[in-house]
Amino acid sequence: MTVPPAPTPLDPAVLAGPVWVAAPHPDDEALGCGGLLAALAEAGREVWALLLSDGGASHPASPACSRARLAAARLAEWRSGLAALGVPAERTRALGLPDGELSRHGEALTRGARTALGEAPPGTLLLPWARDPHPDHRAAWTPLLRAARAFPGVRMLAYTVWLEERGGPEDSPRPGETRPLTLNVQPWRAAKRRAIQAHRTQLGPLPGLSPGFVLPASLLARALGGTETYHEFRPTEEQ
Ligand SMILES: [Zn+2]
Repeated sequence: MTVPPAPTPLDPAVLAGPVWVAAPHPDDEALGCGGLLAALAEAGREVWALLLSDGGASHPASPACSRARLAAARLAEWRSGLAALGVPAERTRALGLPDGELSRHGEALTRGARTALGEAPPGTLLLPWARDPHPDHRAAWTPLLRAARAFPGVRMLAYTVWLEERGGPEDSPRPGETRPLTLNVQPWRAAKRRAIQAHRTQLGPLPGLSPGFVLPASLLARALGGTETYHEFRPTEEQ
């Protein structure tokens, strides 16, 4: 059995800016990267966030809340969560692609991401891991790599949200496929908690919403643990 390499400690100060985080759904950036984003913002670094989907599929069939209203509520939650991490609304961009259907919108995702990233060409891009076990997370990988080609030299760090919750061994990065990096997020845990708590529609029943998606307690506990792990990835020519 191959023993995976021990993660290298990540020093946020060495990440080239601007740093962009791409989130398939509102909350992925907080769950996966909240500590790092807060650390970067606290150090005065330029942090931007790109939301890929509209988040409108989490509570289907809510009589008192249309999909459009839910999407608007989730966009507001996303911006308020990012504000808790020190990322101002002016540095947020949302593509508004349909939640749950990113695999059908790869070209629009590439185009939209390239345009958004072009507003502040990234030195570092945080993106959901290729095999993070959620269909939208997986579907975002190739279109984001394509968009990133327009920015030679960008450093790519993949984050995970569902891997430890739902993933099998085949979903984890293989030895040599990525370079694991770890960040002690203890100093920024309070900000990360506030950012996660901003996503009220994802944390339990609310008046007017049908029973819908709820973030599992085990995932929240892991997200609020003391470390974040990143997988640095260098695409090959074909990717
Ligand atoms: Zn997600």
